[in-house]
Amino acid sequence: MLDITKIREDFPILKREVNGKPLVYLDNAATSQTPQQVIDVIVDYYHNYNANIHRGVHALSQEATDKYEVARQKIQKHFNARKSYEIIFTSGTTHSINIVANGFTTLLKKGDEILVSAMEHHSNIVPWQMLAERTGAVLRVIPMNMEGELLMEVYDELLSDMTKLVFCNHISNALGTINPIKEIIDKAHAVGAAVLIDGAQAAPHIKADMQQLDVDFYAASAHKMCGPTGVGMLYGKEEWLNKLPPYQGGGEMIAEVTFEKTTYADLPHKFEAGTPNICGGIAFGAALDYMNHIGFDEIAEYEHGLLEYATQELLKIEGLRIYGTAKDKTSVISFNIEGLHPYDIGSILDKLGVAVRTGHHCAQPIMDFYGIPGTVRASFCFYNTKDEVNTLVKAVARAKAMLE
Ligand SMILES: *Cc1c(COP(=O)(O)O)cnc(C)c1O
Repeated sequence: MLDITKIREDFPILKREVNGKPLVYLDNAATSQTPQQVIDVIVDYYHNYNANIHRGVHALSQEATDKYEVARQKIQKHFNARKSYEIIFTSGTTHSINIVANGFTTLLKKGDEILVSAMEHHSNIVPWQMLAERTGAVLRVIPMNMEGELLMEVYDELLSDMTKLVFCNHISNALGTINPIKEIIDKAHAVGAAVLIDGAQAAPHIKADMQQLDVDFYAASAHKMCGPTGVGMLYGKEEWLNKLPPYQGGGEMIAEVTFEKTTYADLPHKFEAGTPNICGGIAFGAALDYMNHIGFDEIAEYEHGLLEYATQELLKIEGLRIYGTAKDKTSVISFNIEGLHPYDIGSILDKLGVAVRTGHHCAQPIMDFYGIPGTVRASFCFYNTKDEVNTLVKAVARAKAMLE
């Protein structure tokens, strides 16, 4: 059992008030809060060893380089990658996906097919559309049902020897659906296609095992898992990372430069042009330490309890509909109340100290599918409590009474 009272002590921001009310932070799917343990690591970096990495012979530079590379190994270990250089530091999931989408420009030809799921975040749609435009490849969509589950039998039909790439999120940020990614990966491999899994929403809840999944690429952002913004990772299988051309040119990613020709550095540096977010990378490692210390199994179990309780209590409100009722889902609840605009509900919740997200959640195709402009989304983290769920439910009921 998690000691939530103790865990909450780690997060200074949870003590603050908003509009004179105690903050109830339920926008964790957009970004999670940062524990003191991670904040301390950030402060320590700037207090004690702020320096550029991989360059200087001086002590600070070596210390920063060591800590940065240790962080990479922590990420490798957490995601069970075979090699540490299969972990590329990026600015986040969006950047990670763009590295792969850009890299495939040289590997696709006209008529090749790219499959993408119907429940993607815009950052896992737009780069592939741009790739399709550049190469003449065709983008096909794996549809979903009203519960927000992918139609796997249609996926089977879409797969063929024309399929070169499959892109899917591990967990939908708008619906909370946990997708059957192992099955998706195995079936794609059976026709010779590569798979990128967008793990941005899954990484805070599920410890994904790269070798067990046998996935080709996996992307995640630190800021959704107790780390800072502006840093994330791309896992790529060594053979794929070797095949892809670099994304950006610059310092740090080269082996040798003359005006005639440049040879690229080995992995992972080939994809890490310029000075990276050094402090962020180190703090990402600290965030993984923090979450692993709590334990992912414990987190999943606790959050599942919150999800069930919140679902049950919210559904007691008349006219409230939840979007995303997959059998397998994480602690994200997207909902609307009949006749009310999600934005109006969100604004009243904010006045009552409850932070939720309203809108299309960067997943407009999902909203189009349901024929709605957007939803109110409450997303829970392991530091949220049943009391906070009660506050949410009361606030929603109050918003409904005020708006009707
Ligand atoms: C948040 C999110 C992204 C984008 O992550 P960034 O950190 O903004 O790059 C992509 N996909 C999913 C499923 C997300 O939840």
